[in-house]
Amino acid sequence: MQDTQPKPAYFAFRGQELLCRPDGRAEPLDSHPFPDRKPGKDPWLLDVFPLRIPGPADPAKEGPVPTVLSLAPEAEAPEGLSWVPFRSVLGSLAWDGVLPACRALALANWRAGSRFCGRCGSAQGDKPDETARLCPSCGSVTYPRLSPAVLARVHRDGRILLARNAAFKTGIFSVLAGFVEPGESFEDCVVREVAEEVGIRVRNVRYLGSQPWPFPDSLMVGFEAEWESGELAPDGIEIAEAGWYGPDDHPPLPLPGSLSRRIIDAELFKK
Ligand SMILES: [Zn+2]
Repeated sequence: MQDTQPKPAYFAFRGQELLCRPDGRAEPLDSHPFPDRKPGKDPWLLDVFPLRIPGPADPAKEGPVPTVLSLAPEAEAPEGLSWVPFRSVLGSLAWDGVLPACRALALANWRAGSRFCGRCGSAQGDKPDETARLCPSCGSVTYPRLSPAVLARVHRDGRILLARNAAFKTGIFSVLAGFVEPGESFEDCVVREVAEEVGIRVRNVRYLGSQPWPFPDSLMVGFEAEWESGELAPDGIEIAEAGWYGPDDHPPLPLPGSLSRRIIDAELFKK
């Protein structure tokens, strides 16, 4: 007989760490990991909210709405579970399997920073009919914030531009990246970031793909572009080193699981 009882589902985060079973997967837990902790009364439990997934309901995939728990830094993992940095969870899984957990973390981050109205400073509540905060004093509605950032894979003579960010202590090289400024298109941003960081001009900017990146609220948007003019001159502030690389002579690359690694692999190794 088929079990028709829907199972509850929980995601628990401690900062940017996900509470995982020993297999380290990003699927929700099927029982409350902290049943004795009550929201509003326990300093361990910072926030509890339902994870509504936008879009039309799909009866084939219908299940309980997962609950997201935000835990304080001192919260210890229950027996049999462990806190795992969510970034490392991403590297071990097929991307579509982690989207609910990405949404859960992005919303947990946003909620932690939107408890008070940015206009009048009053404590805000949840807007009942959509994923937003509503200020009871001034009526201001605040939606989850997204901070888009571009990734730029620049091509020249069959090689791609990889650079070492001055902040990366691990020695990895990646494509150039930067946040989109207000009043700027994605394409403008690619041209500006490449010029600022390594001093060259690019053209023919084309979209490659995107990826939610909840650290804390980014959306990574990948592009390719062609070298047009200039020689590499890293700015020495954000970019420490940069060069043109092929499949046989590339430096250490970013961990799997990121869009930057995916668009590097797609060009260097045609996979
Ligand atoms: Zn207000």
